[in-house]
Amino acid sequence: MLKNYSEILRGEVRRSDIERILRISGKEELEKLYAGAYELKLKHRGPHVYFRGLIEISNICMKDCLYCGIRRSNNKVLRYELTDKQVLEEAQFALDSGYGSVVLQGGERSDKIFIGRITRLIREIKGLRKSQDAINRKSDITGETKVVRNTFPSVADYGNCDFSLGITLSLGEQNTDVYREWYDAGARRYLLRIESSNKALYEKIHPAGMPDKDSHSYEKRISAINALKKAGFLTGTGVMIGLPWQSYEDLVGDILFFRKIGVDMVGMGPYIPHRDTPLGKLYYKLNSRHIADPQENCGHGYGELFPLANKQKLELSLKMVAVLRYIMPHINIAATTALQVLAPDGRERALLAGANIIMPNVTDISAKGNYNLYEGKPGLGDDACATKYILEKNLEKLDIPIGWDTLGDWR
Ligand code: SAH
Repeated sequence: MLKNYSEILRGEVRRSDIERILRISGKEELEKLYAGAYELKLKHRGPHVYFRGLIEISNICMKDCLYCGIRRSNNKVLRYELTDKQVLEEAQFALDSGYGSVVLQGGERSDKIFIGRITRLIREIKGLRKSQDAINRKSDITGETKVVRNTFPSVADYGNCDFSLGITLSLGEQNTDVYREWYDAGARRYLLRIESSNKALYEKIHPAGMPDKDSHSYEKRISAINALKKAGFLTGTGVMIGLPWQSYEDLVGDILFFRKIGVDMVGMGPYIPHRDTPLGKLYYKLNSRHIADPQENCGHGYGELFPLANKQKLELSLKMVAVLRYIMPHINIAATTALQVLAPDGRERALLAGANIIMPNVTDISAKGNYNLYEGKPGLGDDACATKYILEKNLEKLDIPIGWDTLGDWR
């Protein structure tokens, strides 16, 4: 019998119920789960998907996370830093394209030069206004999106010349003063994933003392998330799904962690191996077969979710998105890029399972290929224009309207 997921996932929801839902695999049940989450998204957030133009500002990183392709000790990476001019041009592209916001993401640094530079860039991005060219193009674009805008008039007009970009930062752990400085400069959202809310698992994939004495600490990460909230940011966090040593129980804990800390946004996605990392090496050592049934992974010591075949990993990620939408119906949930590695339409499927944010990459094509957190990053050959075009077409097919020129925050 098909379950009523809204009933089960309401109020003081039981851990065992969440876990049972994360384990479902029947097509009909899954479709029901996703459709219910999509309905809730429509009800609480409306039909729109909001774009945040992703600017991958630099791959220079002090951290040495065991899963990440740009970890400090991966010396095969060609390190880069975008110039101010490039960052501002990319932000201008996002603004002119009608994206409501940009995300500045990069490897973690906490030196003074870096901090000051980000402060300056935030101010400069806030000062950008739509170019005359883009305003002149308005008539073409409104032509294209007319149906959408007529149906949902609450979304701002494309040609709004006073609009300034929303800014999200994703620049890792910093101290409270730095978060305040960036907030005061005009950034309003910050993404800092907890990666896994299970302390033991967190510590396994971020070993203490690598490379410096206190460079990785679960407590520090939690304090940083709290400091962001205190500084006034709309705060986002998230986890990776399908990590070694991870269990269904951990994922249930992750969902409850998001609820407990009262996040405003969540970006979570599948863990995707990168061969020049310790976890990637482990993956390639084990993964001579594609494991469809997590049961098969029991006993090898790396947990039931590692390694998982792409189809199952994608499904599990979609279930996480859907369950979270039931439990926190108002928040922003990203359809993350890593989903697209597992299936070309992975992000669109997440939108149909309750997500409402997409981060189209606007990074200069020359740098984009060096920001490889994982292997198989999609769209490396597409510039920002092509990325936008493809995404718009895909969303049109699904009848999902885009919230142009609007921040798309829930509060
Ligand atoms: N330095 C910033 C940005 C990190 S990159 C920070 O620490 O917040 C953004 C996210 O990419 C990370 O939080 C992590 O969850 C994800 N990521 C890194 N390596 C990954 C991998 N191999 N597979 C999937 N996601 C990965």
